[in-house]
Amino acid sequence: MNGIVGMADLLMDENLAPEQKEYARIIQSSAASLLSIINDILDISKIESGRIIFEQRSFSVKMLIHEVISLFRFKAGEKKLDLVIEVSQDMPHFLLGDETRIKQILINLVGNALKFTEQGFIRLAARIENKGKDDCLLFFEVEDTGPGIDDAYKDRIFDPFSQQDASITRKYGGTGLGLAISRHLARLMAGDVEVHGKKPHGSIFKVVLGLKKNSSGSPEPKTAEEAKEKIGDLIEKISRLGLKILMAEDHPVNQRVILLMLKKMNLSATVVANGEEVLKMIREKEFDLILMDVRMPVLDGIETTKIIRAPESDIKNKAIPIIALTALAMREDAEKCLKAGMDRYLTKPIHPDKIVYAIADLFKV
Ligand code: ADP
Repeated sequence: MNGIVGMADLLMDENLAPEQKEYARIIQSSAASLLSIINDILDISKIESGRIIFEQRSFSVKMLIHEVISLFRFKAGEKKLDLVIEVSQDMPHFLLGDETRIKQILINLVGNALKFTEQGFIRLAARIENKGKDDCLLFFEVEDTGPGIDDAYKDRIFDPFSQQDASITRKYGGTGLGLAISRHLARLMAGDVEVHGKKPHGSIFKVVLGLKKNSSGSPEPKTAEEAKEKIGDLIEKISRLGLKILMAEDHPVNQRVILLMLKKMNLSATVVANGEEVLKMIREKEFDLILMDVRMPVLDGIETTKIIRAPESDIKNKAIPIIALTALAMREDAEKCLKAGMDRYLTKPIHPDKIVYAIADLFKV
């Protein structure tokens, strides 16, 4: 999927004839649908096997809501639906938790609300309840004026692969996994998701999450909008750095995708296919940055990093910045990467902007 999504993204940036652009757009959107199905299936299997790990990082609830809503603004406009946001006054700027997983729950709920509602509004509300000095409960409500849900179906709505009736898949697609995943995720975050509302007056999904308050206060970097504005500027600054990059990646398609992304920053890379070759290469030559796949034959990215960072290693530049490239499904990889001493990690399929941000962040441009 990294190859397909990456290449389609790059293709869309080319000077294509209108018809070709349309084909590329279809590849892009089909890849996105397939990726979302794959992710749902991987998520549910990871949850069921108890192998899901949650991050504890500072995030802004307001920014999170803004990002979720901005994903749907266009679609809501097309359907002439009002998108109403209500965030309580006392919402703190930052909380601690797994922003990506919380976003995943909201995207699923708001996405469903939008999918099934033909007129009226979608309302996303957020409020907080303090629980002592360090803990809090974060509440969300996603309300819509859609068809509502049969009382009889409410008992099964959170079951994996369940949809209200067979016409749903035909008409709207979907796997019937979204709510099952959302509830599991919420429960793993000391919370829950419940369904309310009476047919035919729309639905209300209520989410509660048990989170920690952020007392240290280090905000996550940029919003998606700021990110877009800055990307051109960052690319220009990075291209002036003339970085010498070593890329360790065993998959030829991924190698090509990443090389093309680097080319956009006027960068190139020396490519090797496993950790042993990385060690050999950095003993022979000087590099400023390693982009390191995690799963590689012979010697994987984690072991390679440990060898580089070990105080007793014979590598001269033990502090060389390393960005891990991990498979999307393997979030636990990310933790291992950081523990092994890697500086950043990017999950595949890698979006070109993410490489730009990671490099910009590491090299403080
Ligand atoms: P999917 O959206 O992929 O079908 P979900 O688990 O997210 O899977 O939802 C399961 C089913 O619950 C949907 O197919 C639909 O029948 C019903 N449903 C979910 N959200 C709503 C909503 N806001 N309004 C009406 N029906 C809903």
